[in-house]
Amino acid sequence: MIKIDHLNKSFGKLNVLKDVSLEIEKGEVVALIGPSGSGKSTLLRCLNLLEVPTEGHVYIDGTDITAKGTNVVKIRENMGMVFQHFNLFPHMTVMENMIYAPTKVKGLDKGTAKQEAVRLLSQVGLAQKADAYPATLSGGQKQRVAIARALAMKPEIMLFDEPTSALDPEMVKEVLQVIQDLAHTGITMVIVTHEMGFARNVADRICFLDGGSLVEVAGPQEFFTNPKTDRAKEFLSKVL
Ligand code: ADP
Ligand code: MG
Repeated sequence: MIKIDHLNKSFGKLNVLKDVSLEIEKGEVVALIGPSGSGKSTLLRCLNLLEVPTEGHVYIDGTDITAKGTNVVKIRENMGMVFQHFNLFPHMTVMENMIYAPTKVKGLDKGTAKQEAVRLLSQVGLAQKADAYPATLSGGQKQRVAIARALAMKPEIMLFDEPTSALDPEMVKEVLQVIQDLAHTGITMVIVTHEMGFARNVADRICFLDGGSLVEVAGPQEFFTNPKTDRAKEFLSKVL
């Protein structure tokens, strides 16, 4: 579903991603972990061309999205992204947030879009908040709406960049639960997270990034109990 092939990304002289290669299968759940500044967000953003790779290729479903003339809008339609800061449209209700892209980008009629929105809001436990404005929601509720809104486009891939880092501790669980419920339902997921317990429980594979290099890729059991590299060992000794 996703093939990252010798990816390099530099910002000026700063080489942020160094020869990253990785293949992710359809339906797989991959956790991207590593120290702050190791390039996790940049790697995730290269997958939907929010950052343009300096060298190398990214293939989605066999299509080289890094090739010239790629239809970026089309690529992004197929990929939901949820960020640390829930960027809901503040002047729209939850329902208006939900149906905006499906009606404007996909051309769905309002009735159909609303029906689907109700279903998705129920899925994240927020059907009763359809008419609320984002400002009246808790951080956890906003993030659950952001996930539901991304799902409304029926993406094949969901990218999460530290979806719980900006939340008060008591709200982390409800958001992780929504993501966990989504895992292994057929949707391909790449999740940048500092929640090690969550990564261990939910991910099929752990990708450990350090200094812009993909240092270690392993199953969660193996990675957390028997990391191979000194860099992974050191990282784990700090976060576990
Ligand atoms: P992480 O998500 O692992 O914390 P990032 O991918 O955000 O790491 O950043 C990796 C490195 O790239 C950092 O040194 C950061 O300062 C740098 N960086 C990220 N985005 C930009 C940018 N737009 N311009 C310049 N440097 C950037
Ligand atoms: Mg980041």
